[in-house]
Amino acid sequence: MADYDLAIIGGGLNGVSVARDAAGRGLRVILIEQGDLGGAASGASGRLIQGDLAVLERRAFRRTRTALAERDIWMRIAPHLVRPAHFVIPAHSDERPPWLLRLGLFVYDRLAPAGSLPRSAAIDITHHPIGHALQRPFGTAFGYSDCLVDDSRLVVTTAVDAAERGAVIRTGARCVRADRGNVWRLVVIDRGQRQVITTRSLANAAGAWTASVAETVLRAPPPRTAAVRLGQIVVRRLFDTENVYVLQNTDRRLIFASPYQREFTMIGTVSHSFVGDPAAVAMAADEVTYLCDVANRYFRERIGTSDVIRSVAGANLVTGRPGKRFAREGTVTFDARRRKAPLLTIFGGDVTTARLRAEQAVSRLLPFYPMSKPWTAKAALPGGDFPQAAFEAEVEEARERWKFLSADQALRLVSAYGSRLDQVLGEAKTKADLGESFGADLTEAEVRYLMTKEWARFPDDILWRRSKLGLSIDPKDRERLAAFMASTAPG
Ligand SMILES: Cc1cc2nc3c(=O)[nH]c(=O)nc-3n(C[C@H](O)[C@H](O)[C@H](O)COP(=O)(O)OP(=O)(O)OC[C@H]3O[C@@H](n4cnc5c(N)ncnc54)[C@H](O)[C@@H]3O)c2cc1C
Repeated sequence: MADYDLAIIGGGLNGVSVARDAAGRGLRVILIEQGDLGGAASGASGRLIQGDLAVLERRAFRRTRTALAERDIWMRIAPHLVRPAHFVIPAHSDERPPWLLRLGLFVYDRLAPAGSLPRSAAIDITHHPIGHALQRPFGTAFGYSDCLVDDSRLVVTTAVDAAERGAVIRTGARCVRADRGNVWRLVVIDRGQRQVITTRSLANAAGAWTASVAETVLRAPPPRTAAVRLGQIVVRRLFDTENVYVLQNTDRRLIFASPYQREFTMIGTVSHSFVGDPAAVAMAADEVTYLCDVANRYFRERIGTSDVIRSVAGANLVTGRPGKRFAREGTVTFDARRRKAPLLTIFGGDVTTARLRAEQAVSRLLPFYPMSKPWTAKAALPGGDFPQAAFEAEVEEARERWKFLSADQALRLVSAYGSRLDQVLGEAKTKADLGESFGADLTEAEVRYLMTKEWARFPDDILWRRSKLGLSIDPKDRERLAAFMASTAPG
């Protein structure tokens, strides 16, 4: 008998979503990730959970409706990680006349599940706080609702759920060979050790590496794909409100400027075709300039490339043939040749629809295994077992229970851990009870929790993926954190 029913190569959002779905349906699952969970594209996203106005503009109504339904599911199952946001699109007639925007948003509202989020509305921003940050007096903006997600925490939290349902999650483990017979025989290098794992079926969820994993690891024909590089920049905070500004550029692209942590603004996304090693993907200088220029068309506060605090880039796959339009909505393929163990391939698409994609992928295995029905749309992710409307109350309760928390700290911690915050802070009565402090508001208690329960191994796993405190921590604190982690065995 094989060791597992399903092995998954890749711990991005597609891979962990398959692991969660399959483990909850009763399969014996292992997930193998060569680096850290969410360490590639899934942790570098523009953090938008949306129906996507640009998609709607291409009249892909069904796709928009599906994404808006998935947006609602995320809000229900992960109310701490997926938060509603008010998006504003300043109107001017250069790119899209206001009537067209109004019409587009009218359709957008109608495609969303009834009563989910406030509908769109025209706003006079001449003297409105939304208009304060803008450079020239836009008379009108259109406001509408979508969500922002903590992308890398969504990946890690999904993996936690998968693990609690029995999946084995291995990070720092690379699949280097997979031989296909009536079962798969995988060779994995895990912290320098060679291991052999057998599994009845395999999912290739290796993101931008999917084609190269197919060719070199599985020795199977690669899917027809092209790679795109996407990226965002982070600069100081450019506006005081909590809105996401949707900026129309002269090339008709929509660029989003969103609040990032408390002190920063994230601006993106730009995309470009890409050839090369996905591990080495970085934004090009002209892409950074492009994003600064778009922001400078709108905001009073001007920015240049020297104001860029961080750029975030990742590579993603799109399907199609050269010369034809590429499909960006994500791909699931299934290969179940006679007497050969099944192979699922899942890549691309957006964060918004990852849950559904995983559900569809795992369902392809139904003829092979007895398994229970799809379930992931209804079960809260760890820490997400409270209604979206109760988020502020959760933050208040945290401040009541752990009186030493500042308002900002409580907000950050509830946004990250939701109702599981007690597993991080326990019975602490004072700040000192949380042990050593590593700068920003990162404490030993949180670091230990992340090492024990969330597979954190290195400072970057904590500072850039399980939190975004990397932007606020100084090099000395980082060094102390590294020393602490090196001397602490995960519990
Ligand atoms: C910059 C950027 C911005 C984006 N913005 C948005 C957005 O705002 N909204 C939205 O909905 N979507 C957005 N997306 C899309 C979305 O983030 C991605 O499509 C999605 O996260 C892809 O997930 P994945 O699991 O397929 O790939 P990845 O997250 O790249 O994961 C693949 C994993 O496979 C691992 N791997 C590869 N080879 C091996 C091997 N041999 N052994 C073990 N592990 C291996 C890699 O280390 C990697 O971690 C964005 C994407 C990018 C890149």
